[in-house]
Amino acid sequence: MSARSTYFNINTSPFWLMHLACFSAFFIEFSWWYVLLAVASYYLRMFFITGGYHRYFSHKTYSTSRVVQFIIAFMAQTSSQKGALWWAAHHRHHHKYSDMEEDIHSPKEGFWYAHMGWILSPENNATQYEYIRDLTRFKELVWLNEYRYMPVVVYAVAMFLAFGLPGLVWGFVIATTLLWHGTFTINSLSHTWGWQRYTTTDTSRNNPILALVTLGEGWHNNHHRFQASARNGFFWWEIDITYYVLKTLSLLGIVWDLRPVPQYLLDSNHESWIKNGTATIANAAEVAKQRVVVAAQSATQTASELAQTARTSVEEKVDVMKEKVDVVKEKLEESKEALAAQAGMLKESAKHQAEEIATKVENAVENALPVPKEKLA
Ligand SMILES: [Zn+2]
Ligand SMILES: [Zn+2]
Repeated sequence: MSARSTYFNINTSPFWLMHLACFSAFFIEFSWWYVLLAVASYYLRMFFITGGYHRYFSHKTYSTSRVVQFIIAFMAQTSSQKGALWWAAHHRHHHKYSDMEEDIHSPKEGFWYAHMGWILSPENNATQYEYIRDLTRFKELVWLNEYRYMPVVVYAVAMFLAFGLPGLVWGFVIATTLLWHGTFTINSLSHTWGWQRYTTTDTSRNNPILALVTLGEGWHNNHHRFQASARNGFFWWEIDITYYVLKTLSLLGIVWDLRPVPQYLLDSNHESWIKNGTATIANAAEVAKQRVVVAAQSATQTASELAQTARTSVEEKVDVMKEKVDVVKEKLEESKEALAAQAGMLKESAKHQAEEIATKVENAVENALPVPKEKLA
């Protein structure tokens, strides 16, 4: 698919129409309250993306109840970034193959492709259910994932009902469009702009500006180093608002079991690590481990695919043989019948001939006698 048709086609038209619709703000009398509304609507839903889609559904960095889990998924889906299960599956895939050939949003494919080309491409539209077996047992999440745009409509209508036309334009259209690009920076800018504290197998960076734009996700190099923690800002000076909100929710008992950053990643700062070499060794081991896991996975897959192919071809051959045997059986049956018919005919004609000969003998005997047979009696 050419670059132009990836970005501009009938399926991506709603995305671009939303951008166009942002200009409708010029037809409404300006007020700073509307700007505040857009900012609030942006950050409210950014929290559900980072704290929900990312730190809960993708990485399971804390626990919560089934009801709260549904509310999180619903609120995150008002962002119009497809379904919670779709998001989690694609994100797990990203961590598994970060910046490798399979990574669907590596900046190695081009900055704009990593930013939004990948999400606009129809080939990434399906939910990769094999990555989220732990989530598909919740039928309500699967249902919500299928009706991915329903929460978007609910949110837009709510904004309109609450704040009228400015609510729809500033609270929904502008806020949602900005929210797209704010979220997309994680895949584009967070893999190109900033610095790396940890040596990881990918291009992830730490960046305080992006951390403010994305409520803490800008500490992306930290996150790629250790994904299982509920916080991405590992140190107190790394502002991570998503974590502060999660921490508050845990004090209220709404979420629990926030998974911490392991002490060994905090104890030594990176420079001293590099000096004594532990980091290098630990990271090399980690890299090797990840590669082995990926290789093992693909080997198992290939093996099972080969086995499947072999099984199918054997089954097919057996079917063909069976058909042939049936044909032979049928032919045998037919020739048996034909032979029986022939034998019957032969028997019949032999009998007939024997009778004829008997009659002839009888006649001959009769003719040979000097007086008729009756007279002899
Ligand atoms: Zn990443
Ligand atoms: Zn992640």
